[in-house]
Amino acid sequence: VIAEVPRGTAEDVERAVDAAKKAWLDWQDKTPKDRMELLLALADVIDENAEELARLETQNVGKPWWVAVDEPGIMSDNLRFFAGAARNLEGKAAGEYAAGHTSIIRREPLGIVAGICPWNYPLFMAVWKMGPALAAGNVQIIKPAEQTPLTMLRFVELAQEVLPPGVLQVVTGDGIPVGDALVRHPAISLVSLTGDTATGKLIARNAADTVKHVHLELGGKDPMIVLDDADLGRAVEGALWGSFTNCGQVCSGVERIYVARELHEQFVTRLAERAQALRIGRGDDPSTDLGPLISERQRERVEEVVADAVEHGAEIVTGGARPRIELPGWFFAPTVIGAEPEGARVRREEIFGRVVTVVRIEDEADGVRRAIDSAFALGASVWTRDRARGRRVAEALEAGTVWINDHAYSYGVCQAPWGGRGASGHGRTHSKHGLYALSHVKYVDTDAGRLRPPWWYPYGDDG
Ligand code: NAD
Repeated sequence: VIAEVPRGTAEDVERAVDAAKKAWLDWQDKTPKDRMELLLALADVIDENAEELARLETQNVGKPWWVAVDEPGIMSDNLRFFAGAARNLEGKAAGEYAAGHTSIIRREPLGIVAGICPWNYPLFMAVWKMGPALAAGNVQIIKPAEQTPLTMLRFVELAQEVLPPGVLQVVTGDGIPVGDALVRHPAISLVSLTGDTATGKLIARNAADTVKHVHLELGGKDPMIVLDDADLGRAVEGALWGSFTNCGQVCSGVERIYVARELHEQFVTRLAERAQALRIGRGDDPSTDLGPLISERQRERVEEVVADAVEHGAEIVTGGARPRIELPGWFFAPTVIGAEPEGARVRREEIFGRVVTVVRIEDEADGVRRAIDSAFALGASVWTRDRARGRRVAEALEAGTVWINDHAYSYGVCQAPWGGRGASGHGRTHSKHGLYALSHVKYVDTDAGRLRPPWWYPYGDDG
């Protein structure tokens, strides 16, 4: 036990919505400049407290220090990007679409919006939601995951001096009742979830009664295709960190690798060697490469999926069991499986816990065919020395993002729209697309009369 936090209730959500309504009265009159200034101040709060927030995140999740320590800089950059974007959220000033009428297309905030966050990148995901929401002029209520509420709570506490009351609130607690109350609340216009696909389906159904906007950043099962002309060393490193960063608990983590038959054997051997050399330990030990998984339940799930793969005839190349380690925590060895048998859970399910399959492919078309044979479509990568070939494969892949010779590299780049298709969800965060998703379009028509050129007036109706 590292901390205790309140287990929130539906009544807490009701109180937060009341406070948000009050905050909205003032907040809706703020100019883009005011909103920019708040976001810049929030970015400063992160930078000024970067070390504390990174340490707390390591405790919160068990994530390795080298992952946590990178996050504050990416988060403050994200808020600064949306600070600038707040001043670029424009409608279309005027057009004469009907005779004698002037039209204005306005971009307006949605009002009160809710963000429901996962446990793998707790504050990081909350920041992804708050940047576009506040930039577009909304007030927001965020629910962190029940396993990892600490950094969001601490951030809001640190930001008290710059945050107008009620503009950004946090309610801790379980999916039901807290998340569910946000999803069903009639005063909330949008709910944005980053979480599991099953949760996304449920939320989409439950949000239907109040006809909310729903933004879903869901699971993934990213494929990586290594073509016969790939740089083998780079591809192995890409696979290693693509699969095992943040202990494999990354939505765009590599879970399926398809390697050209010419490289397959060497690739598997080198990946296994590199995986075995990773140092497993406490997240707050700077020499640790991999920390524990988030919970006992998560480790049980990973173990079930691995056992099922073995039952379906798959060979475990390395890992597949708990490492010998004298530490409390839900540790599991980085695992490489040499096949993805049809019917095995490892073939179709998101595992989210440092297990990756490596399969030999006959050629480029075979790689693409296997890669797109999945309900998920979040990220994907192709590895080749021939960039034209890389782009051809990138076009053929089903995914929200495709990397050529990298995987998940641009995950935090704010100009890059982020999101998935199919079971990986819909809607985009980051970029202008993320901003537009947090606003709605209003069309205003005024009977302003016909506009005449200046030379017309001395001779026209008036004179
Ligand atoms: P989860 O779906 O179990 O929980 C996510 C959040 O939803 C939590 O805050 C939880 O309390 C809440 N919740 C659960 N049931 C709810 C309900 N009925 N109504 C309202 N809220 C409810 O997901 P998780 O296990 O915390 O996170 C891991 C998942 O998140 C993985 O599937 C991962 O791929 C995904 N993820 C996706 C992205 C992305 O950008 N696409 C990023 C990070 C994580």
